[in-house]
Amino acid sequence: MQTEERTPARVTGTTIGYLYVCPRELWFFQNHIEMEHTSDLVSMGKLLHEESYNREKRKERPIDERNLVDFIDKDGILHDVKSSPSMQKAHEMQMLYYLYLLKQKGAPNRKGVINYPRQRRTVEVELTPEQEHEVEEAIQEVKRISDLPTPPDIAFMKICKSCSYMELCWS
Ligand code: SF4
Repeated sequence: MQTEERTPARVTGTTIGYLYVCPRELWFFQNHIEMEHTSDLVSMGKLLHEESYNREKRKERPIDERNLVDFIDKDGILHDVKSSPSMQKAHEMQMLYYLYLLKQKGAPNRKGVINYPRQRRTVEVELTPEQEHEVEEAIQEVKRISDLPTPPDIAFMKICKSCSYMELCWS
């Protein structure tokens, strides 16, 4: 397996989310290994990003040069819109990472909401000291996995069946 010249691991909300979806896919993403997406195979990444909600109706707002949230409401609450809560932990950690970044920038005590419009459901997220520690551990884990010389071995998961890396991982 060939990879491009290694660069320092980039940590973003997306990579934090990948960590909780599949560490192996995180490694592929960080090492620029992409697969052709066929009509019936869906990148797990799409489960991290809302693909059906009309993005044009939202006003994506930058947290910094690498991270965006879908919108910030009039009360200053960050919102991300997702299609399914099947990856809720990944969505929550992604939002917690944004709240962590804002705290680092001198804006503590911000809140986030994950919106699941199809399910008419919302999940509120706040950065407690425990969760701040969890985010810091996740950042270190993203760096560690990204810098591995080969993708980490993991057990087969149900989501593998719909992942674009299925053939690469399991054939
Ligand atoms: S096929 Fe499974 S193990 Fe491989 S990247 Fe996809 S989700 Fe991860």
